[in-house]
Amino acid sequence: MISEKLTSQQAIDFENQYGAHNYHPLPVVLSRGEGVYVWDVEGKKYYDFLSAYSAVNQGHCHPTIINALTQQASKLTLTSRAFYNDILGNYEKYVTQYFGFEKVLPMNTGAEAVETAIKLCRKYAYEKKGIPENEAQIIVCKNNFHGRTTTIISFSNDEDARKNFGPFTAGFIKIEYDNLEALENTLKTTKNVAGFLVEPIQGEAGVYVPSKGYLAKAKALCEKYKVLFIADEVQTGVARTGKLLAVNHENVTPDILILGKALSGGVYPVSAVFSNTEIMNVIKPGQHGSTFGGNPLACAVAIAALEVVRDEKLAENSEVLGALFRTEIQKLVESSDLVNSVRGKGLLNAILINDTEKSSTAWDICIKLRDNGLLAKPTHGNIIRFAPPLVMNKEQLLDCVEIIKKTILEFKI
Ligand code: PLP
Repeated sequence: MISEKLTSQQAIDFENQYGAHNYHPLPVVLSRGEGVYVWDVEGKKYYDFLSAYSAVNQGHCHPTIINALTQQASKLTLTSRAFYNDILGNYEKYVTQYFGFEKVLPMNTGAEAVETAIKLCRKYAYEKKGIPENEAQIIVCKNNFHGRTTTIISFSNDEDARKNFGPFTAGFIKIEYDNLEALENTLKTTKNVAGFLVEPIQGEAGVYVPSKGYLAKAKALCEKYKVLFIADEVQTGVARTGKLLAVNHENVTPDILILGKALSGGVYPVSAVFSNTEIMNVIKPGQHGSTFGGNPLACAVAIAALEVVRDEKLAENSEVLGALFRTEIQKLVESSDLVNSVRGKGLLNAILINDTEKSSTAWDICIKLRDNGLLAKPTHGNIIRFAPPLVMNKEQLLDCVEIIKKTILEFKI
């Protein structure tokens, strides 16, 4: 039964019948991936232009990562943190030096890492800053996306994500993204602010790149008002935007850094929270954890995934190809009434379609892109995100640009 080979339609029907309907996938059923390519069950080949929401930065089934996975899988997979294992310490040394932090707390998914960062920020506020217990406030931005847990959706303004999931967690203040005045006013007028949680680029919201200098100035304001600057780089981190971290574009070091997704090259759920020792040490044994966090398999996979990023100069490639992509797509913007603009950094980009947010135009274009051999997904009715694996080469990128141009120019609403 497990090995039963399904057609695309059967696979879709099974998901429909037996699975929860919490996603709305593009109708394509994939069974294999290699580098920048994926294949559907009927054998049709596509460019992956989403990379599992920026998790597969290193490309599908990268041999170095798969080798680390299989080697470690045949040796030791999970000990839990009830015991030490011979790889977690190595990984922690490697990953903290790699990203330039003193300490790391390993978790599994992005949402868990965000939860961890929130808990860390609150605990530090109570125990080191003297904020009265249960009074800590964390400033967040409108249109944020930080995951799906009950606490995280408590400070979302996406009604689909929130409706009928309450009651919500208190202690969050929402301000405009990319608005330093709003940040300073809130810092100045609000008691007990513990931290500012921000995405360096708002990915799910539609790849909103803040104004130049925003992150550096926001960090300076956080220093002035003595609140922790928390960067959620689950989507933007690990070379996606043309630097190892998106905050590197403005030489910002967050007090707390959150990573996930491409930390494992999309091979295994691996996330992490970084800080200095003073902050991290507020968490003591028994106060936070996860059975799978820091497991040997995750550690081996993450080390290999990060080696690939460095060895193959993926940040540099992302920077160069991203600039080329925007230049080429800008030509399309000028020649087509259907595309209003292109924006992004490195290989995290989006095009804005000339239609309403509620329209299905972006979806319909993605169906045509699929037919023409390229997979992408709308973030809203009128925004399509483009985020290919960072192992793409120039020739492949130009091939993809041609597919996008042809699809848009031939598209009829
Ligand atoms: N934070 C950001 C910025 C994200 O983009 C995402 C996922 O898209 C998350 C957190 C949640 O990560 P996960 O889906 O692994 O829980």
